Amino acid sequence: MKNRRENFLISGIVLIVFGALFSLGVNIAMGGVVGISGIVCFIIGMSVPSQMGMSPEAVAEWKPSMERLPDAGRFMYRVDVTIDEPIKSTILCGPCGNLETVDGPRPSEYTCQECGKLLWSSEEE
Ligand SMILES: [Zn+2]
Repeated sequence: MKNRRENFLISGIVLIVFGALFSLGVNIAMGGVVGISGIVCFIIGMSVPSQMGMSPEAVAEWKPSMERLPDAGRFMYRVDVTIDEPIKSTILCGPCGNLETVDGPRPSEYTCQECGKLLWSSEEE
């Protein structure tokens, strides 16, 4: 899988962006945690060899830190979108840890199929 490293970088960027958004809108502590996670993720993506990507184990390890985050009305989630065709979005649900893969780029809104929580909606902004 040659695009795993890129996925890691995208994850980092996504987390940094969400960290910034959380800091502004919800909770600065939560934003800090997410932002730092993003920076760490980005650094790992820059430094590790390509074969060390987001293995299922890495995703599973990442989950527990999310469960400790306070429920501030929004649910934590992570989206990885591949760069190369075919475009697929991998969505990790924070509340239940369910990992779902959907075809195409990140959808405008998404409800977790496992726990039924609306993870995000563009209309909410
Ligand atoms: Zn869920």
